[in-house]
Amino acid sequence: MSSLDAFASDKLATLEAGHLRRWLQPTRRLERGLVERGGKRLLSFSCNDYLGLSHHPAVRAAAAEAALNYGAGAGGSRLVTGDHPLLGDLETRLARLKGTEAACVFGSGYLANAGTIPTFVGPGDLVLVDALAHACVWAGAKLSGAETIPFRHNDVGHLEELLTGLRAGVRRVLVATDGVFSMDGDLAPLDALSAVCAAHDAWLLSDDAHGVGVLAEGRGSAALFPDAVIPLQMGTLSKALGSFGGYVCGSQAVVDLLKTRARTVVYATGLPPASAAAALAALDIIESQPALTALPLAKARAFTEAVGLPPAQSPIVPVILGEAQAALKASERLQAEGLLVVAIRPPTVPVGTARLRIAFSAEQPDAEVARLASIVRDIRKRA
Ligand SMILES: *Cc1c(COP(=O)(O)O)cnc(C)c1O
Repeated sequence: MSSLDAFASDKLATLEAGHLRRWLQPTRRLERGLVERGGKRLLSFSCNDYLGLSHHPAVRAAAAEAALNYGAGAGGSRLVTGDHPLLGDLETRLARLKGTEAACVFGSGYLANAGTIPTFVGPGDLVLVDALAHACVWAGAKLSGAETIPFRHNDVGHLEELLTGLRAGVRRVLVATDGVFSMDGDLAPLDALSAVCAAHDAWLLSDDAHGVGVLAEGRGSAALFPDAVIPLQMGTLSKALGSFGGYVCGSQAVVDLLKTRARTVVYATGLPPASAAAALAALDIIESQPALTALPLAKARAFTEAVGLPPAQSPIVPVILGEAQAALKASERLQAEGLLVVAIRPPTVPVGTARLRIAFSAEQPDAEVARLASIVRDIRKRA
């Protein structure tokens, strides 16, 4: 066996022993929130397609038409030949939704964070990151070469303490957080974070992957904090918008710099026209149907009330069970009941906090939400 294969095999064996190996499971996503897996049909509580827009007829038609008219791929970096005019249209619409001067579209949300943070900070600078921020925020911070220090989750006092101690010794400081935390569903205190950043001349980046389309009539978590100043508003087209791609909304100067310097814009292929067209169609629906955008959170709140959990702040509700094996067993039981709720284990979440991560969507029937609640109540009773 080669040393490479030996390394891979050993690593896999270690993961398996800790119940931490992950397996791909081919899954066909159907209409009305259903998925087909292993020959079984399940109602999904694990998709990020909060509004069901990935299957909306108008969104699908827009993607199909763009692919037929303009091709399946972008054909190059945006700075060479990959900047289809639909990308500019999409940026105008995203900036309008977020109330910023401009926007820059990326190939994915991951690429947006990986490219944006290193555009604004580097060696000699400082990045302060909420301890529970998404993996790609950390990736962007690491790639920047700036010193990267976590602050305790949603702990504005800890952030302030770090800034007071460290600000004078560095040139530039970027503070990064999720707007809605992807594994916990709670919101960042964006108003308080913004005030601390202003006091210390630090730049706030908020990752709103799970807020856009589902909070504040679709405008996202920042719109819940009208006093917050968030110069770097990142998000994804791949969740509530039902398409694929990422974006950063900000001032004209910020966006202009991203478009000429962000390495994931310069050295990566542009977003396919079909993805941009689908996102544009999704924005039409989000902006014209505020009642639809409110459904995922309403269902999450009905669930938390029925189970006796604190009221949901977003469409994501964690049910923490502790050990990886307990989360896996609970997920298997729900699957036997026709409900898909994937277990989330370390390293995605801290050791000892393995959980069911439940994502509510506009398409889930209320009766099924109630049935899920009664099973989860029972799982918690036995735990
Ligand atoms: C999903 C997610 C991303 C990555 O977005 P993609 O478009 O899927 O690459 C970034 N941040 C958060 C918080 C996410 O949940």
